Amino acid sequence: MSAATLCVGLGCNFQLCLFGVILFFFIIECILPDKKKSITPVLILSSLYSVAIVALYVAGNRISPFYPLSLTETGILAVVIVIFVLLLIITSMLFLLRYMVHEEEKLTKKAEYDALTGIPNRFFMMDEIQKLFIENGQKDYYLAMIDIDNFKNINDTYGHNTGDDALKILAKTIILQAQKHGFKYCRWGGEEFLLLGKCRSGEIPKDTLEELRSAISSNCVRTSRESFRYTVTIGAGKYTSGQSAKEWLDFVDKQLYKGKRSGKNQVVCS
Ligand code: GH3
Ligand code: MG
Ligand code: MG
Repeated sequence: MSAATLCVGLGCNFQLCLFGVILFFFIIECILPDKKKSITPVLILSSLYSVAIVALYVAGNRISPFYPLSLTETGILAVVIVIFVLLLIITSMLFLLRYMVHEEEKLTKKAEYDALTGIPNRFFMMDEIQKLFIENGQKDYYLAMIDIDNFKNINDTYGHNTGDDALKILAKTIILQAQKHGFKYCRWGGEEFLLLGKCRSGEIPKDTLEELRSAISSNCVRTSRESFRYTVTIGAGKYTSGQSAKEWLDFVDKQLYKGKRSGKNQVVCS
């Protein structure tokens, strides 16, 4: 570009392409997967290019072109190069924008999904509950907390990895049942999963929750030597007027503990 500028003069705009190169440096720096990114090399390179551009303007104004072109040729070349540089800038910006959207989607997925089971996490569900409150649509909904019975024993007996397998199997069962019944779900934390569903004729669909409990208890977790089944207790609560999200969740927790105290492996609805 510098040689072209010196050959045909500043009028043809070849020097503008150097701005595109600076942009290119920054884009490359942005998309490099290096964790310890340092912008120093890019700044040094860009500064050198900036000096080159200024030098070209100074030189171009002092030295007459080696191969002077006619006014028409210079004009055509100048327009072509301006269009080329504009296209380069627009394409680079579009590329950067798409890259940033893609990265943001990846981060959102990381922030809202549980790494072990792959299903949404507590933050996703809190957002869903908040949305219901904002739209004042919480009145016809129920929350149900699922808690694995004696999970500590499973870990102690079969090991933590098998415990993790039990959690993954449970998540798969919830996904399948959610496809059938349309409730939302998340891993609330540890061995607890939370469902958010619509009431049926104003009541919690206990048969749906019973079906889920029964499906979970028929799952088999296999280890290298044996296999076992486990059960869950489910506590559910319909939204009652005037409750805050926290009070609703506290109520559901209480229902769950009622079920735990009265023998586990059951569904407790209000
Ligand atoms: P209960 O029937 O009353 O619910 O008893 P529990 O043993 O299921 O409940 P407790 O709260 O005593 O134990 C929960 C256990 O869950 C303890 C913790 O180590 C285990 N746990 C929490 N998160 C994970 C996990 O991601 N993987 C595994 N393998 N275990 C976990
Ligand atoms: Mg628990
Ligand atoms: Mg438990």
